[in-house]
Amino acid sequence: MAATEFHKVAVLTSPQTPDAKPTFEVKNVPRPVPGPNEVLVRLSLTSLCGSDLGMALGHMGPMRDILGHEGVGRIASLGSNVSSLDPTVEVGQRVGVAWLRDVCGTCDMCVDIVHEGETRCVEALHSGKAYDGTFAEYTLVPLRYLARLPATYDEIPDEEVAPILCGGVTAYKAIKGCDLTPGQWLVVSGAGGGVGALAVAYASAMGYRVIAVDAGESKEAYCLSQGAEHYVNAIGSEDAGLRVKSLTDGRGAKAVVVTATAAAAYQKAFDMLGPFGTLMCVSILPEEAQVIFHPLMFIDNGWKVKGSSVGTRADIIEALEFVKRRKVTPAIKWAKLEDLGNLMGQMIERKLEGKYVIKL
Ligand SMILES: [Zn+2]
Ligand SMILES: [Zn+2]
Repeated sequence: MAATEFHKVAVLTSPQTPDAKPTFEVKNVPRPVPGPNEVLVRLSLTSLCGSDLGMALGHMGPMRDILGHEGVGRIASLGSNVSSLDPTVEVGQRVGVAWLRDVCGTCDMCVDIVHEGETRCVEALHSGKAYDGTFAEYTLVPLRYLARLPATYDEIPDEEVAPILCGGVTAYKAIKGCDLTPGQWLVVSGAGGGVGALAVAYASAMGYRVIAVDAGESKEAYCLSQGAEHYVNAIGSEDAGLRVKSLTDGRGAKAVVVTATAAAAYQKAFDMLGPFGTLMCVSILPEEAQVIFHPLMFIDNGWKVKGSSVGTRADIIEALEFVKRRKVTPAIKWAKLEDLGNLMGQMIERKLEGKYVIKL
């Protein structure tokens, strides 16, 4: 039997509770070995997603202690069945490793092809939950849901692919789901965050007029640089709902995409919606959070409330197309696994700006 090989990982060492301050220990642990239907991926890097913090704080139920779900790497080895099941899968191919590691293909969600239900598979296996996440040099991916990156995207460097695998595709799919016509107003609430900034960039590249909303003045320049026409300070002297109304000639926006992790952001979104507007829920709140509505708000205005959850592998490819054409360029900053605790601390204080990419 071969000697055990090791790899470097960041292990969550703090309790998965809402009031915890996430801490990590970087250490060497035995490298995973692929099962018959899995491939082993050598990750070159992973980016940090806002929901990594939510997971570390237990917002999404019990997690493993290796989180992370925006990894890019190359296939290092194949499980024993892989070549016979799919001879086109080969060692060295570039793949993305996202939140969804596997879907069942047979549940009520999966079989609803029209609604692209696979992203809501009730049996889905997730990064950091069923599988160790991407804060690691190596990780396992089931062949059935392998996200191969076609050679036509080879010109996009790994560090610009990673942020698209969750944050970017989540932003893109949520905007697509608003069913707007180019030229219409779209508000991104939480626009200075990881998903929010990408939502601003995608919405503007898709031809919508974007109003960025976030707390404080410090995020204005960043949001405008991503393509927003206006910035509204959610905690400024003027009410943010009234400000959006006045910027849209009193009509309100056709859609508000909420990426801010605050119940107040969802509540305030109603004040920003125009006739037949869509409130698109993206950010995940703690379980006890509530948003209040009166039925007349919907009866009178024809509003819709929808939710969007990441995207399919096809959505990832569509989203990458914008990056390839340089219509969307993720603003990345480099970090190390050792920085994770510090980065999450800044995230809690809402000071983190841009997308952090961790070299592995
Ligand atoms: Zn399913
Ligand atoms: Zn994510």
